[in-house]
Amino acid sequence: MFLSIFDIFKPGIGPSSSHTMGPMVAAARFLGALAGGTEPEPGSGPPAHVTATLHGSLAWTGKGHATDRAVCLGLLGFDPARVDMDRAEAALERLAADRTLAPEGLPEMRFDPAEDVVFDWGPPLPGHANGLVLRAFDAAGHLRMQETYYSVGGGFVVTEREHAGHADLRAAKFEAGFPYPFGSAAEMLRMGAESGLSIARMKWRNETVLIPEGELGRRIDAIWSAMDACIDRGLSQEGILPGGLSVRRRAQAIHVQLCEEAGRNLAQPHVVNDWLSVYAMAVNEENAAGGRVVTSPTNGAAGVVPSVIRYYRDHCVGARPEGIRTFLLTAAAIGGLVKHNASISGAEVGCQGEVGSASAMAAAGLCAALGGTNAQVENAAEIALEHHLGMTCDPAAGLVQVPCIERNGLGAIKAVSAASLSLRGDGTHFMPLDNCIEAMRQTGRDMSEKYKETSQGGLAVNLPEC
Ligand code: SF4
Repeated sequence: MFLSIFDIFKPGIGPSSSHTMGPMVAAARFLGALAGGTEPEPGSGPPAHVTATLHGSLAWTGKGHATDRAVCLGLLGFDPARVDMDRAEAALERLAADRTLAPEGLPEMRFDPAEDVVFDWGPPLPGHANGLVLRAFDAAGHLRMQETYYSVGGGFVVTEREHAGHADLRAAKFEAGFPYPFGSAAEMLRMGAESGLSIARMKWRNETVLIPEGELGRRIDAIWSAMDACIDRGLSQEGILPGGLSVRRRAQAIHVQLCEEAGRNLAQPHVVNDWLSVYAMAVNEENAAGGRVVTSPTNGAAGVVPSVIRYYRDHCVGARPEGIRTFLLTAAAIGGLVKHNASISGAEVGCQGEVGSASAMAAAGLCAALGGTNAQVENAAEIALEHHLGMTCDPAAGLVQVPCIERNGLGAIKAVSAASLSLRGDGTHFMPLDNCIEAMRQTGRDMSEKYKETSQGGLAVNLPEC
């Protein structure tokens, strides 16, 4: 398999993996290249000034997603997985006042957050809708170094060169000695049939090429702990989300209602959908507030998988702790297939690639945790993805709030329905998952740019009068 479970599920901060975490990583990588001896432009002096230009969707929705702030945090040396937000806020305040960077291994450099992060609203860069160009100049204003990065979804960042060499990278990873290097659902099913192993077990064996078994189990458990903590924090918070839309957090109040109704024999059977929604909304409200979340596979879609795992743990008959590992490994296998063969980036294929992919991952995970066969798991993922095809990305005011927060709840509900439907069959079905992933890729390619995280169409241009 090409992507580790820890590539798919990465701890970080909200509100966006592609627009916050990715640019943060890119900025830090640029400073690393500047300090680490990447060949400078001939004749240029030591770096004295840094700028960043945001292109495509990073420019169109960058304000709402706090992309400029993310670039500053990356240049200040913060890493999305470990950032201490109190320290980060203090460092941002200092930067705004001093307009100077002092990274380790480099001279002091001028960087004014208000002037040196440029939003370029022209055509996107050719490689990907989420592009950013970082430049360093010497004291005389001559270019010393320039690098183009693409934030390709889920917090993944590639340079222009790496993006162009994607096929080589893929081949290299195949040769890295993974025992079950499936690159499609068909290969995954064939390898499972030949080995007699579940999808989760094959994924586990692939991961152990890189990580010892004991550590692997602990790290998978840590993913779930971080997701679970995020749900709990979201369920305990109230108030208005930042960004100016005046969207109120709802998860806490809904959760209180659900807890009061529980055990009273008054609830309608469909109320279980409200539990799924409230778990997902808790995560996405945290994400919208810039809190700690786990990409799954992105920040915007980070509520679906945790919600369905919580549903499995707290509501399903026969749930076991090992089932959560099975869930996450299976979900990561499906997320890897979607990312590898299509995209998990809303700026590239719309929300079908974010919440649609997350729903397919959660459906597969739940189906596996409940004892589904490999064929049933593939069927569950396909059902969930199929019924998100064509879904656009049109966040109001460029914020990951409307429709994103509720949409995660609905993605979780579809995932549970898809797993349940597939478990009622034997895995035989009409439309293979590979075909559905390809349909998603083609639909995304043909989708108007207006509906790919630019906030230029759909709900984003039909806002109510305030
Ligand atoms: S609409 Fe979907 S893809 Fe777009 S920002 Fe929201 S969750 Fe992400």
